[in-house]
Amino acid sequence: VFCDVQQAAPVAVFKLTQDFNNDQFPNKVNLGVGAYRTDEGKPWVLPVVKKVEKLIVHDDRLNHEYLPILGLPEFRSSSSKIVLGDDSPAIREDRVGGVQCLGGTGALKMGAEFLRRFYNGSNNTKTPVYVSAPTWENHNAVFSSAGFEDVRPYKYWDAEKRGLDLSGFLRDLESCPERSIFVLHACAHNPTGTDPSQEQWKQIAEVMMRRKLFAFFDSAYQGFASGNLDKDAWAVCYFVSMGIEMFCAQSFSKNFGLYNERVGNLTIVARDADNLKRVLSQMEKIVRTTWSNPPSQGARIVAITLNSPELFSEWKDNVKTMADRVLLMRAQLKAKLQSLGTPGTWDHITDQIGMFSFTGLNSKQVEYMVKEKHVYLMASGRINMCGLTSKNIDYVAESIHEAVTT
Ligand code: PLP
Repeated sequence: VFCDVQQAAPVAVFKLTQDFNNDQFPNKVNLGVGAYRTDEGKPWVLPVVKKVEKLIVHDDRLNHEYLPILGLPEFRSSSSKIVLGDDSPAIREDRVGGVQCLGGTGALKMGAEFLRRFYNGSNNTKTPVYVSAPTWENHNAVFSSAGFEDVRPYKYWDAEKRGLDLSGFLRDLESCPERSIFVLHACAHNPTGTDPSQEQWKQIAEVMMRRKLFAFFDSAYQGFASGNLDKDAWAVCYFVSMGIEMFCAQSFSKNFGLYNERVGNLTIVARDADNLKRVLSQMEKIVRTTWSNPPSQGARIVAITLNSPELFSEWKDNVKTMADRVLLMRAQLKAKLQSLGTPGTWDHITDQIGMFSFTGLNSKQVEYMVKEKHVYLMASGRINMCGLTSKNIDYVAESIHEAVTT
């Protein structure tokens, strides 16, 4: 029965890790994986997470009963609060709701599935969905697999000036069909590490409102961009303050280090409480036929942390520890490349924010890094700054120098 099934291509980032694991070279470096690493190159269980896990184990009131279809209520509400702010008028007006999802990916998929079914008419597969060029590679696939037939890129990155192509972005916003869907990175754009400034976000919001475009924020790195949760949620809050209805897919994989627990939330900001109620009722139907109800462990860890002032403050310190290490690696890599006299400018390494840096290395240089130097990075030239450590940074800088000058 399966004779006609075609072999699918491997997922690039997982394939890269597999190649890295199979490599016997002692000084190999993995800059591909999208996860935090300590200066010893190890995964980090956040101390606050360890503490809360112990609380959960010893809490006899907890059990393994099914959660409600939409998830743990205190997780959903606290997730929306950290992105919109405690004093968000939209929350006070009861027009904000959440759906606990399986990671940020699950939240994107739930939102996409809902939009296909109910946005712009029923089952409108023709509504264009715009994703930034470039973007996290899964955005295209998530929206196409939800049934959208027209997923297109919008201008975002200017390769020459290694920065945001704001005029191209605004042009695409002005010229696209009204009511198109735009997937926006809330902060720490993956893969470029380049976000619009607050003034630029205001310009983007103005066009989106005027042209009735739907804002679907993807917030996978809150806290990672600046080390400050509110600053990293500024764009989302600004859009809400302008009265824009939206979805925001939140991931707690990176900022809680809960990658394999699959913790995400789809925050929905609707026009009013009645709209929200109907949207959530339909979300229940989609969840019921997808995962029926979500897992509890990761959501409990996040909810307990966010709802306790002491644990919340400890978590913020943990996030800052991660963000600061990234900043340090950025500064050191730039300094090393400059001291080696590597051709080109390297200011973008420190100008970019978040976990990733878009080095500007071309595909030949990337191939050289992987094949000759055993330094693994994505074909786009994206590197995970957390893959750098005080032990390997000299080797990586020298490898980049060689790749650029050979
Ligand atoms: N969105 C972006 C921009 C990401 O980079 C990622 C993860 O790499 C996700 C969403 C998905 O996160 P999760 O692992 O929680 O599904």
